[in-house]
Amino acid sequence: PRYVYRFGGGVSDGGSGDRNLLGGKGANLAEMASIGLPVPPGFTISTEMCTRYYEEGQRFPESLRTEVANGIAHIEGITGKKFGDAADPLLVSVRSGARASMPGMMDTVLNLGLNDATVVGLAQASGDARFAWDSYRRFIQMYSDVVLELDHGAFEEALEIAKEDKGYSLDTELSAEDWQGLVDQYKAIVQEQWNKPFPQDVHEQLWGAVGAVFGSWQSERAKVYRRLHDIPGAWGTAVNVQAMVFGNMGDTSATGVAFTRDPSTGERAYYGEYLINAQGEDVVAGIRTPQYLTLAAREKAGAKPLSMEESMPEVYGQLAKVFDLLETHYRDMQDIEFTVQQGKLWMLQTRAGKRTAKAALKVAVDMAEEGLITREEAVARVDPAALDQLLHPTLDPKAPRDVIAKGLPASPGAASGLVVFDADTAEKRAEMGDAVILVRTETSPEDIHGMHAAKGILTARGGMTSHAAVVARGMGRPCVSGVGTLAIDAKAKRFKVGGREVKEGDTITIDGSTGEVMLGSVATVQPELAGDFGVLMEWADGVRRLKVRANAETPLDCETARSFGAEGVGLCRTEHMFFDADRITAVRQMILAEDEKGRRAALAKLLPEQRGDFTAIFRIMAGLPVTIRLLDPPLHEFLPHAEEEFAEVAASSGVGVETLKRRAAELHEFNPMLGHRGCRLGVTYPEIYEMQARAIFEAALDVAAETGEPPIPEVMIPLVATRRELELMKAIVDKAAAAVFAERGRDIAYLVGTMIELPRAALKAGEIAEVGEFFSFGTNDLTQTTLGVSRDDAGRFLTTYVDQGIYSKDPFVSLDVEGVGELIEIAAERGRKTRAGIKLGICGEHGGDPASIAFCERTGLDYVSASPYRVPIARLAAAQAAL
Ligand code: PEP
Ligand code: MG
Repeated sequence: PRYVYRFGGGVSDGGSGDRNLLGGKGANLAEMASIGLPVPPGFTISTEMCTRYYEEGQRFPESLRTEVANGIAHIEGITGKKFGDAADPLLVSVRSGARASMPGMMDTVLNLGLNDATVVGLAQASGDARFAWDSYRRFIQMYSDVVLELDHGAFEEALEIAKEDKGYSLDTELSAEDWQGLVDQYKAIVQEQWNKPFPQDVHEQLWGAVGAVFGSWQSERAKVYRRLHDIPGAWGTAVNVQAMVFGNMGDTSATGVAFTRDPSTGERAYYGEYLINAQGEDVVAGIRTPQYLTLAAREKAGAKPLSMEESMPEVYGQLAKVFDLLETHYRDMQDIEFTVQQGKLWMLQTRAGKRTAKAALKVAVDMAEEGLITREEAVARVDPAALDQLLHPTLDPKAPRDVIAKGLPASPGAASGLVVFDADTAEKRAEMGDAVILVRTETSPEDIHGMHAAKGILTARGGMTSHAAVVARGMGRPCVSGVGTLAIDAKAKRFKVGGREVKEGDTITIDGSTGEVMLGSVATVQPELAGDFGVLMEWADGVRRLKVRANAETPLDCETARSFGAEGVGLCRTEHMFFDADRITAVRQMILAEDEKGRRAALAKLLPEQRGDFTAIFRIMAGLPVTIRLLDPPLHEFLPHAEEEFAEVAASSGVGVETLKRRAAELHEFNPMLGHRGCRLGVTYPEIYEMQARAIFEAALDVAAETGEPPIPEVMIPLVATRRELELMKAIVDKAAAAVFAERGRDIAYLVGTMIELPRAALKAGEIAEVGEFFSFGTNDLTQTTLGVSRDDAGRFLTTYVDQGIYSKDPFVSLDVEGVGELIEIAAERGRKTRAGIKLGICGEHGGDPASIAFCERTGLDYVSASPYRVPIARLAAAQAAL
């Protein structure tokens, strides 16, 4: 098999279609080279090699040596330089490039090919000794860190001391001799830490770097990133070896990153940053704060240093043409890396740009309106999960705020939380339930778990394309970066800004849309759902087949759900209503009653309350179906605990406290999730369901009379396993309906159906459908009972299960399509056989998960039901599933 693919100099062994084989970076380099853009020549070692490397105990096959030698020869042929040539050496970069972009998670080595001899050649050939020695020391430092895994602190310290000795404050003040002196020190550090001299053989350097890049695929931070982004470990990374071009060869050289549209807002304006006389890493790592690409952006920010448009107008003009060409070619917003070497433009990377949800919407809608993509493509382009970012509150513009600093608006959204200064503390406090803001001088890939745990991120350094900004946008975390006035003392756990001091545990608010940092927490307002959001949702609704309902049980939930476009309630869990302060005592009285008479007395108190609950919901959902589930949880969940709670029940029921306590003890269950719950409550205490059914029909008739628009109640029986159970429960409901209709002299249409939450119910769905008029798959319980995994205890071990590939995702989040999914298919098929066209829906948490929704579409369900904030996500996911 072949593992090496060349690009550049009129050759392209691959193209953008080869992403799986060449990784994103390699495929796009080949594509750019093939459409005639200036790409430094190089080659890609495929992802298949990565897989083989791991299969064979981290060794390379012999054949790869020949292929790589040919690849190097390809670069030498085009550049006219020789690898390891002491007179005019070829230098290369070695970079990772997986199928899915994993910014900053894997390793890179630049300036490879320098040694004690070639550095002299580079100095002569370039006529710039300072540049040559600076490059060599950068190489030693990077190689020692990435390949030799030495402690990088020692190198940084040596540089700091050298600067102090000379009285310099900036790296740019160091001369050629200074850098040369530092190279000697760096080599001594390597010798000391590694017990061997820094490798002088350029081929040894190359293989070391290739091995390190493949090795970084299994680094801890890469694994964490993959888990957070659902990237399979089996994909592997490619390695790109490419001729170096230098942005640090004086003032006609530069390096930068750019987006063809604004990645925060989606606006159609080139957007980016560059640094004169710098290498790419300087921009991304946030070590120097970069300058604006365009004049417009610079003016808008009121910044002084000249934009690239002003300082390098000619190259900027070429770059702008490349932006347009790439966007039209790829038909998507691009994220681009480039370098200018002594006035000549080189393209180093292009890829679909990561963007905020707001930008994703705007770019998709704009591009469809520009005719660059179709409406269907626009619908397909937006990640439904990302909509979550848009549906949450933003800072109330009218709320008072105490602004203590301002930085770059790096990732939009607002967040308040307790200040923490390191990722581990962020994770720990978040686990304890605290909202935290992670405050760092700059973030690095090691901070990723803390960034994920935090509600927001604040950094003192780094631009809009710094690690913190890119990762925060990808995660949907608000981020303010580059707050230059922030003096952070992470050891002392405090920062100072404008004469104020903020300590760990103090509350601050950040606004990632404006860059403001505020003391304390600031009030928020609901988001605006019109504009691009409304347009895209309308297009989505035009293509989707699945209906989308909401899981909602309060009037507020129902209102939110309707405003998000819910087409009914798919699950109203009535037990939550029983906990309200005004009725919990009556509920307890009912549960603890010794006999039916006692229960009926308590239920009579609950009837008007329940009727009121349903009336409110029916009013909001007028004309739409509302699925109401009768009481489900084990009774013991409602039991009193505190003395005064027992006293209260005793007072209202006239039963002694001791008797009540004995009753409560009797109700104890060893395994309540499989205990006295669901329809088993209705079977043993039919009067409970009778009261609930009566409340439903009385409320429905009240609202019908009031609005003229009768609601469509769908009464749902939980945890059914057998036909007979459902038959008994349906009889209770039908009897209550008949009684209420007779009393009122009017009737309305309603359905009685069941949840499918137990494997037996799925298997016997044919019989159950003879009685039940609809099925709603309760996939929370169905997952729990099919897998035999407790939904309340799974958190402790499921991450290990996912890491080991036993389940590809948490089966309580994303449906286990193979197992639980098969039961759903069986139930749907058998149910349809006995009741043609039986209404089928899903109301477990999976109803809001895009992958699970795709399964529901394939299985031909009628609707999915999701929590109110997930309704828009479900609408979009349902549309994508139908495309
Ligand atoms: C379910 O089991 O999937 C369901 C929706 O019911 P609950 O989560 O209330 O048990
Ligand atoms: Mg359930």
